[in-house]
Amino acid sequence: MSKEQLECSFCGRNKADTNLLIAGLDAHICDRCIEQAHGIVLEDVKKEDETGITNAELKLRKPQDIKAFLDEYIIGQEFTKKVMSVAVYNHYKRLLQVDNDDDVEIQKSNILMVGQTGTGKTLIAKTIARMLNVPLAIVDATVLTEAGYVGEDVESILTRLLQAADYNLEKAQTGIVFIDEIDKIARKSDNPSITRDVSGEGVQQGLLKLLEGTVVNVPPKGGRKHPDQKFIEVNTENILFIAGGAFDGIEKVIRKRLNMQAVGFSASMSNDDVKDQDNILKYIIPKDVKDFGMIPEIIGRLPVLTHMNPLDAGTLRAILTEPKNAIIKQYTKLFGMDDITFTITDGALEYIVEKAIEYKLGARGLRSLCEAIFTDAMFDLPSSEEKEFRVTKTYAESKLDKSGIKKQLKAVV
Ligand code: ADP
Repeated sequence: MSKEQLECSFCGRNKADTNLLIAGLDAHICDRCIEQAHGIVLEDVKKEDETGITNAELKLRKPQDIKAFLDEYIIGQEFTKKVMSVAVYNHYKRLLQVDNDDDVEIQKSNILMVGQTGTGKTLIAKTIARMLNVPLAIVDATVLTEAGYVGEDVESILTRLLQAADYNLEKAQTGIVFIDEIDKIARKSDNPSITRDVSGEGVQQGLLKLLEGTVVNVPPKGGRKHPDQKFIEVNTENILFIAGGAFDGIEKVIRKRLNMQAVGFSASMSNDDVKDQDNILKYIIPKDVKDFGMIPEIIGRLPVLTHMNPLDAGTLRAILTEPKNAIIKQYTKLFGMDDITFTITDGALEYIVEKAIEYKLGARGLRSLCEAIFTDAMFDLPSSEEKEFRVTKTYAESKLDKSGIKKQLKAVV
């Protein structure tokens, strides 16, 4: 075959009609066919991406793998990490069940996490969403109100999820919704002045349908003020809901129940049995959540109940340095980008932890304290010849004293 007679084996174009003809073993391909084929490959990859996670990938994530992933980012909270790993695994198993001819319907494993603020509830939800590569919407229950009242309709939760999924409906429908401060919509039964419980029971009722699985008309841009905007039908059946709240005062409810049992016939939970008096939350059962003011139907639809342990000094210290993206690791990297070697002594780390506890800021305060201590250095060092930055307790103390953060934090406490 002469050079001019060569043709593309895919479209049959003559070499003369192409910009480029690449030779293979027994065939040729022209530039146009390469581009087309490339388009097909991209489309295919995208399709796989749109469905969120491929089945093969999902099967790989056994509970122990999920927990191992969580361990990289979340310090402590062993019980919650284990319970969540199983719940998430079961949830996605439920999504994957293809043939359902045995009438055994796997229920949703929505989760309720009870624990003080700053103990890692949001972090766990975020980490799980990242691991599964599914969209996550974080919403605050306090802004939700019953339809017709000032505030956001319950459906706005799904608007957020759609936004997090870039309006990819399929992706949104297998996403995760984290509802923060769920305890704030507990029924306020001890407040007789509220004739109509706008933000409480009504909202709980509104949430019921979503949690259970239903098709909801969702305004894609949110808000109810544009009645003519088109709605998107979102099916919540495969959306995993994780609710979190501090449930301030629930310890009292738990203690009361435990004591009552002790005087009862069984006396199964005497004060001696309640070994961990400092962490009463670990004895929580669904009844306590009900007695706190959540309606039983909601509790039924959040069947996985777990608690967060308070963060002690050891845990806070570990949070500073151990997780994959620990705060101290981030500063080391930031300084490293200016060729500055950053080190911090144990004394300084302990001092930061001490202050975080003193100001009752939990893990949330660690970052603000670090910022207050390191800002001067981050401002000055990049323009200086200095190639080392060592933080000692004395240095940390002097910077904190100077920064005024102490006053700010004291004002908050
Ligand atoms: P919550 O939702 O319980 O109020 P967050 O998850 O928002 O708490 O935690 C606030 C910050 O504190 C997180 O961004 C994280 O940096 C840190 N943090 C809290 N608990 C942990 C933990 N157990 N392990 C690692 N970091 C934590």
